[in-house]
Amino acid sequence: MKARGSAIVERVRGGETLVFDGGYGTMLFAAGLANGACPELWNATHPDVVASIHKGYFDAGSDIVETNTFGGSRLKLNEYQLGDRTTELNVRAVQLARSVAPPHAYVAGSIGPTSRLPAEYEPLGDTTDDEYLETFREQAQALAEGGVDLFAVETMMFPQEAVAAVRACKAAADLPVMATMFFQYEDIHDRDRTMWGESPADVARNLLAAGADIVGMNCGRGPDRAIVIIREMREVTGGPLVAYPNAGLPITEGDRVRYELGPDEMARHYPALLDAGCNIVGACCGSDPEHIRRIAAVVRSRRGPEL
Ligand SMILES: [Zn+2]
Repeated sequence: MKARGSAIVERVRGGETLVFDGGYGTMLFAAGLANGACPELWNATHPDVVASIHKGYFDAGSDIVETNTFGGSRLKLNEYQLGDRTTELNVRAVQLARSVAPPHAYVAGSIGPTSRLPAEYEPLGDTTDDEYLETFREQAQALAEGGVDLFAVETMMFPQEAVAAVRACKAAADLPVMATMFFQYEDIHDRDRTMWGESPADVARNLLAAGADIVGMNCGRGPDRAIVIIREMREVTGGPLVAYPNAGLPITEGDRVRYELGPDEMARHYPALLDAGCNIVGACCGSDPEHIRRIAAVVRSRRGPEL
C-alpha cells in the first residue's frame, strides 16, 4: 500500500495549494506550560490540551497538522531526563493528532533541532553526523510507528543537522519528508541566510539532494521575508515548496511577548507568497487558529468554487 502522505506530494504537484498549521508554544504556555518545562511531556500529562490545539487548527482549515514533538529527539529530551521516554512520547503525540483529524486530513511528525551544535563548531559543538542520524532515526521510527503520514523536519539551523534528519526519516520509513530551515534576515546585505550562511537556493538544493520531497522555510521572520525566500528557492526547483513564517517579529511588553502581525495583517501577505510559487502555507511562532483561518480563506479563494 502506498503511504497516504504521498498523496500530498501528488496533490501539490497537480497544482493544489494545501494549508499547514500554526504555532504551538504560545498556546501551550497559555494553557499553563511552565517556562523551562518539557512541551512533549504534555502528550502524556495533558493529552486533552494538546488534542484541542490540533482540533483548533483542523477546524480553522488546516489540511495538515504537525505533532507536538518538535523537541522529541532523545538528545533534546535528555535535557529534561526524559530520553528514555522518546518512543512513548512520540507515539502518543501522533495518536493525539490523529484522534481529532478529519478523514481527509494529514498528520505530519514534527522533528526540530536537538539544540546540540555540530562538531565543526568546536569547542562548543560536539555532535557528529552519526549522532544526529541515530537520534533522528529513533524519533522518526517512533513517529512512523504512531502512524504519521509524512515527516516535518523544521526550524533547522545547520545543514549537517538538517541533512541527517532528512536521511534518518528516509531510512526509518517510506514516507514523504518536508524539510524547512530557519533564515535570518541580514539588514546590511538585504538578504536571507541560515546560521551557517546558506542562501535559500543552497538550502533547497541541499535538502533535495538529501532526499527531501518538499523543501522551504519556517519560523525566522514574517511572511514578507518568506515571499523572497520562496521566490529564490523557486528559481532552482520545480518541486513542492512550503513556508510557515512567524507572525512577524516578537515584541516584548513587560513580561509578555506578542508578535507584530495579527491574523488579517498576516494573511494580507499570502497572495504574494502563493504567487512566489509556494505550494503549502501555514504559520509559526506568534500565530494561532485565527491566523490559519484567514490564511486558509486566501488559499480557498484561489481554489475557486468548491465542487
Ligand atoms: Zn517559529
